[in-house]
Amino acid sequence: MARTALVTGGTRGIGAAISQALKAEGYSVAATYAGNDQAAAVFTEETGIKAYKWNVADYADSKAGISQVETDLGPIDIVVANAGITRDAPFHKMTPEQWTEVVDTNLTGVFNTVHPIWPGMRQRKFGRVIVISSINGQKGQFAQVNYAATKAGDLGIVKSLAHEGARAGITANAICPGYIATEMVMAVPEKVRDSIISQIPTGRLGEPEEIARCVVFLASEDSGFINGSTISANGAQFFA
Ligand code: NDP
Repeated sequence: MARTALVTGGTRGIGAAISQALKAEGYSVAATYAGNDQAAAVFTEETGIKAYKWNVADYADSKAGISQVETDLGPIDIVVANAGITRDAPFHKMTPEQWTEVVDTNLTGVFNTVHPIWPGMRQRKFGRVIVISSINGQKGQFAQVNYAATKAGDLGIVKSLAHEGARAGITANAICPGYIATEMVMAVPEKVRDSIISQIPTGRLGEPEEIARCVVFLASEDSGFINGSTISANGAQFFA
């Protein structure tokens, strides 16, 4: 029977490409989202991948949602913690609310997503935990103290889970995308986008499918010895 994969934030942007790539590999896929019902409905119609709505920042919601996915599709063997947000502001203008919202979603959200799935993975002696971090968690970024802190924290989660899961056949790895052509990046003024591109030696933004390719690789049965690692996919913009 096909293994089941859960992709948080799997209905749009990078997550949507990940969901589709995993489905193409033969996994049963569940994609989650936070509130954009319309985008989720279009995604499901176009891909046939079922979408589930819950807030990754809420532990009880996550636990209940995960339980529903497992009832519908079977035990989750691959979890991709991809949902993430930005609330940018220079540090002197950053509000406690901007800090908390990003920490709750990007960092605690990873705990809330992986923690309810972890005991089942330990029991079944197989699991793939893949966390979508960011280049800005590796190098820091102006106006992103909150975001960079969470994305660096995600790397700490992955490295620690790798230690804990290794003997139970579970791997935990991170992917640090550079700038990817999602709605978020395409929405910035062309001038700003051009200046971003000028800092990428490859001379272009990355494509969501290029991140999905890394996920498929890490999710594979054959990737069992790759554990606690970080794949940087950033067009040579930064070497961690
Ligand atoms: P998008 O904004 O395009 O999509 C985000 C997805 O996450 C949506 O499905 C959204 O749901 C969901 N989401 C957001 N908050 C929550 C929440 N609280 N609970 C559940 N789901 C939530 O993001 P990207 O595709 O651009 O980014 C995906 C990941 O990649 C993020 O973690 C981001 O930090 C990381 N990343 C992105 C880069 C880029 O250049 N785009 C670069 C480096 C890292 P809904 O549709 O309902 O809003």
